[in-house]
Amino acid sequence: MTLQSFGVIGLAVMGENIALNVERNGFPIAVYNRSREKTDAFMAQRATGRNVKAAFTLEEFVALLERPRKILVMVQAGKPVDAVIAQLKPLLEEGDIIIDGGNSWFEDTERRTQELEPAGLRYLGMGVSGGEEGALNGPSLMPGGTTSSYEFLSPIFNKIAAQVDDGPCVTYIGPGGSGHYVKMVHNGIEYGDMQLIAEAYDLLKNVAGLDHNQLHEVFAEWNTTDELDSFLIEITKNIFPYIDPETKKPLVDLIVDAAGQKGTGRWTVQTALELGVAIPTITAAVNARIISSIKEERVAASKALTGPSGKYDGQTKDFINKVRDALYCSKICSYAQGMALLSTASKTYNWNLDLGEMARIWKGGCIIRARFLNKIKKAFSENPALPNLLLAPEFKQTILDRQTAWREVIATAATLGIPVPAFSASLDYFDSYRRDRLPQNLTQAQRDYFGAHTYLRLDKPGSFHTEWVPIA
Ligand code: NAP
Repeated sequence: MTLQSFGVIGLAVMGENIALNVERNGFPIAVYNRSREKTDAFMAQRATGRNVKAAFTLEEFVALLERPRKILVMVQAGKPVDAVIAQLKPLLEEGDIIIDGGNSWFEDTERRTQELEPAGLRYLGMGVSGGEEGALNGPSLMPGGTTSSYEFLSPIFNKIAAQVDDGPCVTYIGPGGSGHYVKMVHNGIEYGDMQLIAEAYDLLKNVAGLDHNQLHEVFAEWNTTDELDSFLIEITKNIFPYIDPETKKPLVDLIVDAAGQKGTGRWTVQTALELGVAIPTITAAVNARIISSIKEERVAASKALTGPSGKYDGQTKDFINKVRDALYCSKICSYAQGMALLSTASKTYNWNLDLGEMARIWKGGCIIRARFLNKIKKAFSENPALPNLLLAPEFKQTILDRQTAWREVIATAATLGIPVPAFSASLDYFDSYRRDRLPQNLTQAQRDYFGAHTYLRLDKPGSFHTEWVPIA
């Protein structure tokens, strides 16, 4: 019997599409799914005429694969990954490789690596971005683990990944859970991008008064620009003119304004807090989804709480351009925060991440793919030790040129009562980062006052405590 060169466990949307991608690129595959029906449907509907063999037990699956076995696990993150590993482990032999391609929590990946590698098995935690379309036609891949495991698999990864002008969208990320960590931060940045676009839409619709056709035109124009050309702007442009066949109204207007989330945005915020890295734009994006989800309470509050009632009286064209500038400046701040988080995580966990490479592999396949990532790649290539993207010459100049517009948009939104939490958080981040003196001298005085936490002084070295309460 000829053995298959690659195995996929889990035939939900991601697993079946990545399996077909691997096979299309010349690697015969074996597949297995816990429930037989998915395997049957996959074999009948999508695998005919392809070099795919199906197994209905893990024993059969393992026997179909050439050694060392290369097995991609694409099941729901969390306990299911542990369940699959526990069943698979006794069936595998030294040198076999398990790749977890789901959105696993990076500490779980570290734990699994430590359980499997001493037993002679190899383990990669690989972030996969691009949704089902990316999985099928070329995702962005973020594999973490040992370099030897990565090198062994790189011929396959290089072929199945999205291809861009400077190579396949895959690189060795680093050891242990680094691949899943980078994928998580990618998702956090995606939350930021989506919220910033939502705020631009709100302003254009409810301040500038644009209808769905005009919104389409503005986003279409933005999508031709060096700074905003991206997958998310492109799909946004396509959403506006879509008419619901039943009601003949723009479908976007009929969709309930309550956003869901699966957890990677929240994880990004949690780890940033733990590492002490400020990511206010991404945090604002997560909070915006949370507030959006209390729809009924908001509807009730809208009847009880009033805000300003004025109308925007400026030039529409001018306002549209200012919103574009505000969106771009905020986006730069959001990526600066994501990259700062990766930089601190890299130092904390000794991952030695190449931040320019992270930007490069996000250029294709994934949801945040954008022309703008070339600029980030360039910024880190020119200065790998760049402390913050805001200091890269091009981004610095962009913000200097556009900050007046950015501030005006946020001021207009505040005056008219339109929430722009991610635009505002970005501007606050910029203004805080560029200030040489913040008011936390007062915070330190308060901490010393009520808790004797001590403080440092500007004018002399040492640590000081004051008995602040005046003696009566
Ligand atoms: P999913 O809905 O997250 O998971 C469904 C798959 O997990 C099914 O094959 C299911 O098998 C299997 N499964 C669940 N519990 C299991 C258990 N205890 N033992 C064995 N198998 C179990 O599928 P998905 O959307 O394709 O995502 C797969 C992974 O990729 C997830 O980690 C997800 O977060 C990540 N991801 C998803 C996307 C996306 O756009 N969907 C994008 C990037 C990454 P049964 O059929 O037997 O239930």
